[in-house]
This record gives sequence, structure tokens and C-alpha cells, in this order.
Amino acid sequence: MKNNTLLEVNDLKMHFPIFKGAFGMKAGVVKAVDGVSFSVREGETFGLVGESGCGKTTVGRSILRIYKPTAGTVIYNGEDITSYTEKEMSKYRREMQMIFQDPYSSLDPRQSVGSIVREAITTDKNCKLSLSEVDAKVDELLQLVELDASMKDRYPHEMSGGQRQRLGIARALACNPKLIVCDEPVSALDVSIQAQIINLFIRLQKKLGLTYVFVAHDLAVVRHISDRIAVMYLGNVVEITEATELYDNPLHPYTKALLSAVPVTDYDVEKKRERITLQGEVPSPINAPSGCPFHPRCIYATEECKQKKPELAQHGDNHFVACHIIK
Ligand code: SF4
Repeated sequence: MKNNTLLEVNDLKMHFPIFKGAFGMKAGVVKAVDGVSFSVREGETFGLVGESGCGKTTVGRSILRIYKPTAGTVIYNGEDITSYTEKEMSKYRREMQMIFQDPYSSLDPRQSVGSIVREAITTDKNCKLSLSEVDAKVDELLQLVELDASMKDRYPHEMSGGQRQRLGIARALACNPKLIVCDEPVSALDVSIQAQIINLFIRLQKKLGLTYVFVAHDLAVVRHISDRIAVMYLGNVVEITEATELYDNPLHPYTKALLSAVPVTDYDVEKKRERITLQGEVPSPINAPSGCPFHPRCIYATEECKQKKPELAQHGDNHFVACHIIK
């Protein structure tokens, strides 16, 4: 990992107005992301975790400018890309890639594996490769993601889930990316296949110097791959720190509850562990709670928590937490 910052997200907000009735009256605002800030260093894997609906995927999509943020900035490689038009973004489209949870839905079922990867190579308007060089590059990419060259003539429906995800990765790599937003890339796969794909991500990062923003709901998965992790709750980051620190010394009550649900393989440790059960459901982001967004489910909530939203504050080296009771 290098020390230069590749990506900076500052006070990012994504608010979606909702309308009702025949006259389209504004009925509220969904605050999918409500002031998220973090930075990612070159060659780093930055994990974004939280329950479904916490806004982590929206952050990932806003980074790639699939969504235009309502407020805040996205700085990529020192350049503020927040308000870039599609044309201005085109110079970064290839080096900022996304890998999806369900590769099947992002692959054209009528195209063979070879043709999908070939197309990703040749859509680069600067591509000067001859036909045979493109074919060699397809073989090289398939080898990189550990798919047999004989797969070239197959179609996505003839592949397993793990093989399809490898194809999705090969297609992203065909663009020579610097930054890849991985949106729940293993959550649809069997546990044994998940480990293989995670290890592939790690090997590719070492080999190609890639930077990942790794979005997932499963803390066990994110732990294995991430250098640092941000925990999100209802559109807000509640804790950010190094991956090992987060697991060894979680501070935010929400992080503690999430971690207490992750199984531990050591039976004695597992037996002694305190399981923290979260009360109730995640509130709707349409009418998000006042003050700390976690207060309706937090067993430590005070009056202050109901009134005042806590800011992320530093508690130790590289450890930031948004909670009034952490001193
Ligand atoms: Fe709980 Fe209050 Fe901390 Fe929010 S600020 S997590 S409600 S103690």
C-alpha cells in the first residue's frame, strides 16, 4: 500500500425526494447517505459494512458517479469529479470499475465468455491491439482470474456462480482499472467459493496494485480482505479504523452488536462471548430518528443521544467513532 490518497469522499449526501398522489406532492426525503467522509489510499482495501439499506451501495455508486451526489465532494486522484458531466467522466470510466453482487445480471447472456472480455478490451478508443493481440490478451485475463482458456466459448448460463464472478472480474481488469468498487461481490456465493474469490481479489491486488472499496454486509468477509473498515448505519459512518483494531477493540455499540453476531471458530471463546441482540428493526431512512440515528435501538441511549447527532471523533490512533458516551 502506498501513502498517496487515491480517493477522498467529503460529507457525501444522497437524498432522494419521494412524491405521492396524483399531483406529485412531495411526501418526504429518503436520506440514503447523510454526510459520509473517508479517504482511501492507493493500493488499500477499504471495507464499507452495515446492514442492508444502510447506504453503503449508494456510497459506492456515488463514488463512480453512477449517482450524482446531493451534496459533498468526491475527489479522485486529486481531481474533484463530483459535478463532472458524463463526457468529463469518460476519461475515468475505465480506471474506475465496479464488480457487482450478481454478475449474471450484468453479463449479456447472448455473448460468449471470450466475446465479453474481448468487448471490454476493444471498447477503449485508445486500443491499438491487433486481432491476434486482443485474443492473446483475453487468454491472459482469463488466466489471471484462474479461468481455463477452454471457457472462452461458453456462455454465462453454462458457468457456476464462482466462475461468473471470475468472468466479471476479468471484464473489469480488461479496462486496466486503478480503483474497483466491489459491491457485495461474494454474498451470492457458497461459503467455500467465497473464500476462493476473496483470495483471488487479494492476489490480484498484490500483482496489479489495485485499490478496492469493498462493500459488504458480512463482517467476517470484510475482515479478511480489508486494511481499514468503515461501519455504516442509516446513511452515516459510525466507526472507522484499521481492520484488526475494529475486531479487537470495537467501540461503537452498533459495531459491538454486529461483531457479537459473527461466529468464532474457537469453542471456548465462543462459549464465553456476550451476544448483543439489537432491539427492533432499522428505522426507515424517510423519517430517520433525530439525534443519533442509532438511538432507538441502543441500550445506552441518553437524552442527549435523542437530541444531538454525534460527530466522528478520534479515540486512539486512526480510530474514529461517532458516539456521545465514548470518552
Ligand atoms: Fe448509543 Fe447514544 Fe452512542 Fe448513539 S450516541 S450509539 S444512542 S450511546
